[in-house]
Amino acid sequence: MSMTEFFEPRISADTKAYWDGCREHKLMVQKCKVCGRLRIPASYVCQNCLSTETELVEMKPEGTLYSFVVMHRAFHPSVQDKVPYIVATTDLSEDVRILANMFDVDPDELKCGAEVTIDFADSETYSRPIAKLKEKK
Ligand SMILES: [Zn+2]
Repeated sequence: MSMTEFFEPRISADTKAYWDGCREHKLMVQKCKVCGRLRIPASYVCQNCLSTETELVEMKPEGTLYSFVVMHRAFHPSVQDKVPYIVATTDLSEDVRILANMFDVDPDELKCGAEVTIDFADSETYSRPIAKLKEKK
């Protein structure tokens, strides 16, 4: 198992389109057709207006680092060889935030508000979003 592989995602009827998008390296996010609220993870009912009408929108794979944690203790034996690893939340727009690991970065370099791009890591059966610090120009 590579360093970017963790648990396989539990894919439901609601989240399948999101994970299918990840497989194509596209960030397909569910949007409420009534109130416009974006949501990750996808869900059957809009938590804002209770509508079940949705559409998919492709988000630009970039945003700002909202927060992050460095996991030093394995919460499960299967991730013992991964510690320490970073779990980050990135704001993609005003009202949607994505949870993704960060690799190949020194946690001391991370600052909330930093510019981040979302990339994808492929494994045999699925692809998962990963957050990376945006390259400085
Ligand atoms: Zn809604």
